[in-house]
Amino acid sequence: MKFIYYFGDGQADGAVHQKDLLGGKGANLAEMTRLGIPVPPGFTLTTKVCTYYMNNGEFPSQLKNQLMKSLLRIEAAMDQQFDSASNPLLVSVRSGARKSMPGMMETVLNVGLTSKTLPGLIQQSGDERFVYDSYRRLITMYSDVVMEKTLGLKSKGGKGIREKLELILEDYKSTHNYTIDADLTAEDLKIISDRYKNCVKDILGQDFPDDATTQLWGAITAVFKSWNGKRAQAYRRIENIPNDWGTAVNVQTMVFGNMGNDSATGVAFTRNPATGENQFYGEWLINAQGEDVVAGIRTPNPLNQYSTTSESLNLPSLEKVNPKIYSVLDTVKTRLEVHYHDMQDLEFTIQKGRLWMLQTRTGKRNGAAAIRIAMDMMNEGLISEDEALLRISPENIDEIMHDTVDPNAEKSGLLLGTGLPAGPGGATGQIVFTAEDAEDWKKQGKRVILVRNETSPEDVHGMHVASGILTAKGGMTSHAALVARGWGKCCIVGCSVLTIDSKNKSLHINGTILNEGDWVTLNGSLGNIYKGELSLKKPDLEQNKYFNKLMIVADQKKELGIRTNADSPEDAMQGRKFGAEGIGLCRTEHMFFEPERISPMREMILANNQISRRKAVMKLLPFQRDDFYGILKAMAPHPVTIRLLDPPLHEFLPHTEEQIEKLSDEMDIQKSEIKSRITALQESNPMLGHRGCRLGIMYPEITEMQSRAIFEATAKLVKEGEFPLPEVMIPLVGSAPELENQKRVVNQLAKEVMQNEGINFEYLVGTMIELPRACITADKIAEHAQFFSFGTNDLTQTTFGFSRDDMGSFMPQYIDSQIIKNDPFQSIDQSGVGELVKLGVQKGRSSNSKLKIGICGEHGGDPESIAFFNNVGLDYVSCSPFRVPIARLAAAQATIKSNL
Ligand code: ADP
Ligand code: MG
Ligand code: MG
Repeated sequence: MKFIYYFGDGQADGAVHQKDLLGGKGANLAEMTRLGIPVPPGFTLTTKVCTYYMNNGEFPSQLKNQLMKSLLRIEAAMDQQFDSASNPLLVSVRSGARKSMPGMMETVLNVGLTSKTLPGLIQQSGDERFVYDSYRRLITMYSDVVMEKTLGLKSKGGKGIREKLELILEDYKSTHNYTIDADLTAEDLKIISDRYKNCVKDILGQDFPDDATTQLWGAITAVFKSWNGKRAQAYRRIENIPNDWGTAVNVQTMVFGNMGNDSATGVAFTRNPATGENQFYGEWLINAQGEDVVAGIRTPNPLNQYSTTSESLNLPSLEKVNPKIYSVLDTVKTRLEVHYHDMQDLEFTIQKGRLWMLQTRTGKRNGAAAIRIAMDMMNEGLISEDEALLRISPENIDEIMHDTVDPNAEKSGLLLGTGLPAGPGGATGQIVFTAEDAEDWKKQGKRVILVRNETSPEDVHGMHVASGILTAKGGMTSHAALVARGWGKCCIVGCSVLTIDSKNKSLHINGTILNEGDWVTLNGSLGNIYKGELSLKKPDLEQNKYFNKLMIVADQKKELGIRTNADSPEDAMQGRKFGAEGIGLCRTEHMFFEPERISPMREMILANNQISRRKAVMKLLPFQRDDFYGILKAMAPHPVTIRLLDPPLHEFLPHTEEQIEKLSDEMDIQKSEIKSRITALQESNPMLGHRGCRLGIMYPEITEMQSRAIFEATAKLVKEGEFPLPEVMIPLVGSAPELENQKRVVNQLAKEVMQNEGINFEYLVGTMIELPRACITADKIAEHAQFFSFGTNDLTQTTFGFSRDDMGSFMPQYIDSQIIKNDPFQSIDQSGVGELVKLGVQKGRSSNSKLKIGICGEHGGDPESIAFFNNVGLDYVSCSPFRVPIARLAAAQATIKSNL
């Protein structure tokens, strides 16, 4: 079996499609080599070696032989020999899994430096300082990664070996009055290397290996083992990366960016990852090796004029210092982008004026940049419309709809620490430590960030009022993360460097102490926590031409209609602005809570005969007519689905003694009488009680009043030259006769209003499908309905048999222990509730081919559910106004994917 794949000198055994076998880094190194891009020769040990090693505790027997042969090939290409005294070859040993796991696994540079090879390299390079600089770096990386982390050698005295060695370096520098690493001479670095080796022996109890082959196998084994390191495992759990993928290991000829001032190392993006602008963007460091740029020890130089920041203003760019190399790099950049059809993240090293590419991968980017890059590349003809649509994730859109931390403010902000990016956008506020404090402070008009170890359902009221949430514990599926994401709230979880002192209401983070009331700013898209109040930026979608273009392309592709759920003209307008093609759910109950309406409502409920009930309910007519007028007008000529009164009546009843007293005055009846009526209306299971169409059936005057309000508003609009289109929806129907009953009332009212007003208008009558029985008998129900709208919130409750309000006590546990994979109220339970939806669609259409079918539960804004509804053949989905753009994209993606 082939365990090792070679790349070098324009030839490679592997290619980019072999990421599963070679890992992302290895596959791309092979691909770049094939493209004729300068890549230091090397070879990749496959992920199969990793899984073999994990399963057997040893390497496959052929591996050693294959490795020797591959090493010979590099040696021939480089005209150098590994472990040679006169002409030594050094290599790097680099991890690289299928999917990039940034910072999770290990890399060791300069492998092969020993007392035997040191003199040869000094002679060959003519640069003793460089050789000892490389040597001390090798000792640091090797003792940390291979000896301490992998062999499990425990360092004495708590601190890790890397920290101990860095202390030696700092000590040395300060006793010699040096300020920067560049002050160190060859002699200094030689002394430091000796001290390093002594320290390793002393602390870890074992010598740093002075044999090249031992170093090579030690490093390879360590990188394979780092796949199962704690950090890597935790990361995989969050990112849903299977444990059995394994990592590949790349052994590659070292090229040196630390060989003097004509050498350098850098990272670059083929386009700006923060804005998406089509401009080469990057940083580089003169006379440095790999990790220096990322580690942020020195302020890196800008790659070009465009990449200059306020900190690097006076540092020379590569474009200026070495225009020739810059132009080679620029050509490589273009080549790679054209080849990969996506923005790339590059690592390069310049050794004595020669450019080498060390890595390319798809670059990470924020939401705004993702949209811009996809639209630009589509316009440039680099990718098709379908590819562009598939490349943008719904989260990308979600992100640009939130406030974000102003990038300029963020650059100068003091970073306190990082956690997991659980909820997107930016938030700033004063820290509080309990949900109660969050509420109190908010009431005083303050903006707060709620800081907790972790959250539980009891914290929800505080989470709701907080601008942002920060927790020390928990992962991307913790309670805080789930709740925050549901609300689109900025949230950072699992910030392990954060400790909370709840007694003193203070927190500790990386050496900083903050007290209640101190300001922090969160970047929930990156997981960054900053000290102080940084300015936020409001999203401006109308001005975002890339977003607008995206929506146009998506609309051309999608088959599903997208409506919005809206209970007010403002929401309707907002939804329409975002592209909604109608209202899928307009609830009417909240309209009764306003002060001047609640009294007639209560009168109606408490009335003990039809005459007084009718009298009370008719007081509500003018209000309702105005409501519907506004909403129908805002949406005309698009349809508006209006749901008749749905909730259990007791929700409207007075609760406090004061309210009862007031009502007793207004209605001129005894308080005791009111109280006894309230008691009579009490239900032990209101979710399954007297609600939905059961209200209208028992009290037809409610349906009459609401229908009259809808139709009179419609008539008025028609007379004004508008084209309103009301769709009257009967809730919670479980059997055809229920719908028939209510439909008769609605149609009768429509007829009356048309006659009275002397005009005709269009309207539909349909029902909400939210009970299992309604799905099962959908063919019967459809005979009386012009449309169905699946109310998947209640359908989920009634199918699972649990109440959404009461599931807080067990649902987190259910999800934690994987009894349920996802919260079924967020993403539709396809195999259960979804099957009922399918049945309802099929049966409904079987008896009424013209039946219009939509969904108006919260699932209407969830991309995965939208794909499901698309495939089931619904006509539209309806979601909250702010989810409409996401739904438009998700619907387009669903169409594209179903045609693949
Ligand atoms: P990561 O996956 O964490 O980015 P890498 O394997 O890319 O780790 O290595 C980190 C850095 O080490 C690279 O950015 C590069 O600068 C440096 N490096 C790795 N291999 C070599 C090499 N053969 N020659 C010179 N530098 C190297
Ligand atoms: Mg890298
Ligand atoms: Mg319902």
